[in-house]
Amino acid sequence: MTDQKSASTTVDGAVDSSTSSNFIRNKIADDIKQNKHGGRVHTRFPPEPNGYLHIGHAKSICLNFGVAAENSGLCNLRFDDTNPEKESQEYVDAIKDNISWLGFQWNGDVRYSSNYFEQLYAFAVQLIESGKAYVCDLSANEAREYRGSLTQPGRNSPHRDRSIEENRDLFERMRTGEFADGHCSLRAKIDMASPNINMRDPVLYRIRHIEHHQTGTQWCIYPTYDYTHCLSDAIEGITHSLCTLEFEDHRPLYDWILHTLEIASIAGASDLADTDSEYVLPEQTEFAKLKLNHTIVGKRKLKEMVETNVVTGWDDPRMPTLAGMRRRGFTAAALRNFCESVGVARSDSIVDLGMLEHAIRDDLDKNSPRAMCVLNPVTVVLTNLPDEHLQILSMANHPKVDEMGRRSVPLTKRVVIDRSDFEELPVQGFKRLIAGGEVRLRGAYVIKCIDVIKDDAGELVELHCSVDLDTLGKKPEGRKVKGVIHWVSEAKGIPLNVRLYDRLFTVENPESKDIEDIRECLNEDSLIEITSCIAEPSIMEEGASSSYQFEREGYYCLDEKESSENKLVFNRTITLRDSW
Ligand code: ATP
Ligand code: MG
Repeated sequence: MTDQKSASTTVDGAVDSSTSSNFIRNKIADDIKQNKHGGRVHTRFPPEPNGYLHIGHAKSICLNFGVAAENSGLCNLRFDDTNPEKESQEYVDAIKDNISWLGFQWNGDVRYSSNYFEQLYAFAVQLIESGKAYVCDLSANEAREYRGSLTQPGRNSPHRDRSIEENRDLFERMRTGEFADGHCSLRAKIDMASPNINMRDPVLYRIRHIEHHQTGTQWCIYPTYDYTHCLSDAIEGITHSLCTLEFEDHRPLYDWILHTLEIASIAGASDLADTDSEYVLPEQTEFAKLKLNHTIVGKRKLKEMVETNVVTGWDDPRMPTLAGMRRRGFTAAALRNFCESVGVARSDSIVDLGMLEHAIRDDLDKNSPRAMCVLNPVTVVLTNLPDEHLQILSMANHPKVDEMGRRSVPLTKRVVIDRSDFEELPVQGFKRLIAGGEVRLRGAYVIKCIDVIKDDAGELVELHCSVDLDTLGKKPEGRKVKGVIHWVSEAKGIPLNVRLYDRLFTVENPESKDIEDIRECLNEDSLIEITSCIAEPSIMEEGASSSYQFEREGYYCLDEKESSENKLVFNRTITLRDSW
């Protein structure tokens, strides 16, 4: 990456600093310099509402909204809704919610390609009238056969030379529902011998007697993506149509449709009214998809995982969906930083999941308040404190950020520490509590283990420790105590369950074609629930944060969906350090 730096602002006012240049930013800068599009920058994010957004979409969102904001431009949200059988309102709602959460606000109303169905139909009639489109009766199989292959040119459809009159009539009858699904289609008349298969008379409209989530039963013919996308861009006055590399070979078709319809005369007229410059058609530019190792990014497979109950839903905290990552405790700022840090390239590459984890830790370390939570409690009785002892200790919410304030942590005669912080037969270098040894309770006193109480079976029941009352905020006299462990008052602590998440797949590339069934490479330990954890009471106080660094344990956040009045569930967002 490079030298050029600028800053972009998101709706929550956060400035993501140090954005670096990339070929798209450079192209847009050049276009502005040349006053192309009258200097306007107008992008769009065009999700198909057939699933939830994932981390790859976040990259596209950050790019589209980002370059618009950086250039005082606009970015539309347009649902690319031309496949009603796979789409739903649930997905529409989730996508809008996810984009807002990520910190972006689209220009004006939400748009739908289906808003333009009437106009798209009229354009199709125009194509027919100029001899550039025809109704073809070939079945899907026949059409495939006629299409040829990468090495073989295609053959003209026997219906290619229908008269304009006949085409107009048939197309209208397609619309009025006279024909069954698949009976015929409207195709562009381009070139069956083109080396680019997308140019071999591509289908523009197909018949689908199916209800649409936006237009209901109004239509039984639906335009294809390729036909719809370029025209929707033109209608909305989009200047830069950014999409992923798989559409590179579709670009000639994008351009063909706009040029053939002489769209310049109508397109984006409203947006251009106040500029003097000559209208320039929207231009498609492709960039590489974001792919992550150990992760499936692809709605089709993610959907399969939801439908086969590999996960509990689209928002399962192990999913790389925005909904899942949010529930897991990933922050919008961290995801935006990550998307910026991976850059925008022209060729595919796989990003290491560690980079995402780094961005998450970086953000959480800076912004998470600290609290103590004991995951596997064992009781420590502080023998020289009175039974009713209740001392309120004040601790900083963040070791480096004073503005984050302080919290009150109660100390009582009985506290809990983590079972793993005590060893009777310690290995060399064990710096925590041992029989007869000393350790500091974080933010409190140095204690000494004077008795180890066990049951008849030899299992540890509790530890008896004495408190050196002269060590609050002070070093102990005449000796060094190296270990510091976290603890919680047994009586005042809050019981909770925690869910420890790990990578879902054991293999580096779960999207590999060699894997027939992804269920065979699932990490069985991707979710471990621990019950009977105890956290300090500050996490439940009014106005408390919903995410924390549980000291020495990792970053955790409240799972609102799983928590109820009598059960608190926290998700582990991420460990403190990389354990892979
Ligand atoms: P998927 O392959 O997951 O089904 P898609 O491309 O079919 O994704 P769309 O809803 O069509 O999903 O995508 C909306 C926008 O997001 C498109 O412009 C698409 O190019 C972009 N996009 C999708 N996946 C990625 C990705 N992995 N990285 C970057 N951009 C992506
Ligand atoms: Mg798609």
